[in-house]
Amino acid sequence: MDRQQEFVLRTIEERQIRFVRLWFTDVLGTLKSVAIAPAELEGAFAEGIGFDGSAIEGFARASESDMLARPDPSTFQVLPSDDGNPSDTARMFCDITMPDGSPSWADPRYVLRRTLSKAADRGLTFYTHPEIEFFLLRDRPSDGTEPKPIDNGGYFDMTSHDTAHDFRRAAITALEAVGISVEFSHHEVAPGQQEIDLRYADALSMADNIMSFRHIIKEVARAKQVHATFMPKPFRHQPGSGMHTHLSLFEGDRNAFHDASDELYLSATARSFIAGLLRHAREITAVTNQWVNSYKRLFGYSAPGQIVEAPTYVCWGHANRSALVRLPMYKPNKANSTRVEVRSLDTACNPYLAFSVLLAAGMKGVEEGYELPPGAEDDVWSLSDTERRALGYDELPHNLSDALDVMESSELVAETLGEHVFDFFLRNKRAEWVDYRAEVTPFELRRYLPSL
Ligand code: GLN
Ligand code: MG
Ligand code: MG
Ligand code: MG
Repeated sequence: MDRQQEFVLRTIEERQIRFVRLWFTDVLGTLKSVAIAPAELEGAFAEGIGFDGSAIEGFARASESDMLARPDPSTFQVLPSDDGNPSDTARMFCDITMPDGSPSWADPRYVLRRTLSKAADRGLTFYTHPEIEFFLLRDRPSDGTEPKPIDNGGYFDMTSHDTAHDFRRAAITALEAVGISVEFSHHEVAPGQQEIDLRYADALSMADNIMSFRHIIKEVARAKQVHATFMPKPFRHQPGSGMHTHLSLFEGDRNAFHDASDELYLSATARSFIAGLLRHAREITAVTNQWVNSYKRLFGYSAPGQIVEAPTYVCWGHANRSALVRLPMYKPNKANSTRVEVRSLDTACNPYLAFSVLLAAGMKGVEEGYELPPGAEDDVWSLSDTERRALGYDELPHNLSDALDVMESSELVAETLGEHVFDFFLRNKRAEWVDYRAEVTPFELRRYLPSL
């Protein structure tokens, strides 16, 4: 037994933990949990805990369904209870293996580990910093009607008796109790919409953090008798919830994206990384935006004249909020803060897979020395289609079906996800699209029934 494992066992005894939850994530990004008694933990560290992989979305065919969950002791945390104090329950994230001990090809955590280790071979560590948006709702109707947001607030609003403010305090306390540092939080543009930004961390820890985040936010909401949703676009006439993600590569202590002598403080590595993100942007969109509903957000306008700041065109700009990739210019000359912000992701993605395809796209640019096209200075939404075409800005896919078509012919995505996840993902998402295609929507009834 190693020292981290010993530390976990000791903590469990000292803190009188009664349940240990083993967490992992299915291919679609749903958190899975199995609780074991503390007495089982030593065995779980040594041999893993067996489960039926065929019962987990995307994991296995029935014939090879025996799998093992192996807890990663470095992720051990005691979970907070409703009042914010430590509870009698702890959790650890797991890596999934086959009975022979080899990693499971279906495990999203392994997909990310594999992609990170390719960058590590070049001496590079990948860091991410997400800005997570979500809605707080009074209700969660399941009959297709719009939910009611908990307030009428807007960007940075602060009122005295404010449920949202109170909620954010409780949420941040709970997140920090499990070691997730929050950098920034505020009310977002739409009624009921919140944003919480996590302090940057290596991509694997961050993907774990995002899974914990979604769970904790929902729990805190429940304790306050409201609902939290990460649905990308619940309201027709309001902006959706994105997960802008800031990316950087470090070589030891040195930010490999920073170059003090460049006018934008960007290194050659950063430039070709961004070029990679842009060239492969369309191929990876199905992974960063995986639901039918995701594409209702990736649309420039939600009401006449209202720009929602979700990207639709493939271009980059410094301090340009209409671009897919933005260079934040808050503290441009601070070496460690040089980074690129990708604005397409939504909060309902599988963070392990999304970080994998982003890193793979960027690294492809670095390996092949892609040239960065000129940045977009203008607000790209205000240009005409002809102007945009002349500038060479591609459009992101308009819907899940188009996104899957481009993904299907992408060698980069196939190689990054591995054959098993790639095939499952395409099959599962095609089925979702077919379900959606068959729907007769309120739009059609409103539009056609009165006149046709
Ligand atoms: N909600 C917007 C989106 O969908 C982002 C708004 C913002 O943070 N500028 O991406
Ligand atoms: Mg923000
Ligand atoms: Mg925001
Ligand atoms: Mg942002």
